[in-house]
Amino acid sequence: RAKEEGRDRYAMFDEEMREAAVQSLDLEADLRRAINHRDFVPYFQPITRLDDGQVVGYEALLRWQHERRGLLLPAEFISLGENSGLIEQVDWLLYEQVIEQVARGGEGYVSVNVSPRHFRSPDFADRLLGLCDKHGADTTRLRVEITEVALLDDAPRTLRMLRTLRQHGVLAQLDDFGTGFSALSYLHRFPISALKIDRSFIAGMGEDGRPESLALVRAILALASTLGIDTIAEGVETDEQRAALLELGCRFGQGYLLGRPAARIGGLVTA
Ligand code: C2E
Ligand code: MG
Ligand code: MG
Ligand code: MG
Repeated sequence: RAKEEGRDRYAMFDEEMREAAVQSLDLEADLRRAINHRDFVPYFQPITRLDDGQVVGYEALLRWQHERRGLLLPAEFISLGENSGLIEQVDWLLYEQVIEQVARGGEGYVSVNVSPRHFRSPDFADRLLGLCDKHGADTTRLRVEITEVALLDDAPRTLRMLRTLRQHGVLAQLDDFGTGFSALSYLHRFPISALKIDRSFIAGMGEDGRPESLALVRAILALASTLGIDTIAEGVETDEQRAALLELGCRFGQGYLLGRPAARIGGLVTA
């Protein structure tokens, strides 16, 4: 009996594994097709001043308009994209649309997310600047968001790339700060204009949050202030969080309280 049940369980397990494998294969085939069809669009989420709510920029967020499944979020396909190496092609399709949007004019910056994979290709900066040139986009209105991994992975190359971008007016912000191996000793060597404090710390700041979060936010703000760089709090969802961050000296925020990601850039930026 027990043996039989065991066998059944194995059979079931096999079946589930097979399904998962087939599904991810399907999705990979879908992703390849979507690249050919250019089925990706940027959504834009405002980044605002925490004191008066003034929009200073937008983050461009990747969305996949899947032919059957509707609008997909990065969580549903980004790791597949990273593992298959397809993310780079997807990103370039997105960057071009974002740069076209920037070229239409307006105020404030638009930041794009850069997968650490891109830092392995030596022509990343030139290619990005080339797209700006092609569309006549003001490079000072484009920013890149990189993660701490990129600083560690191939530091000399990342440094070169960020320097090239900065020389041409493209500033860099450090995304999800505090979740990686925050290489504090490295930080001052890189031309980073802002730290984006990861959402998990902001979520933990309230009374029912994790007690260390507030201390960590305070420490990150002190560090940024020492280095003379801006701070953007991610995932600001409540007015209590907004007020607390402001009180602690954080100037900028992004989150559902301040504005949701949307298919279009709101009034302030469009020409
Ligand atoms: P991220 O760069 O940290 O982007 C912020 C994420 O937080 C976005 O999720 C945004 O919708 C979400 N968010 C913003 N405000 C709030 C809030 O108040 N509460 C909560 N719970 N969430 C909030 P999204 O668009 O699903 O993107 C997830 C991640 O996917 C991004 O995290 C980024 O790492 C990656 N990603 C997004 N766009 C691109 C892209 O074009 N290329 C690459 N390589 N990765 C991208
Ligand atoms: Mg980002
Ligand atoms: Mg982020
Ligand atoms: Mg994040």
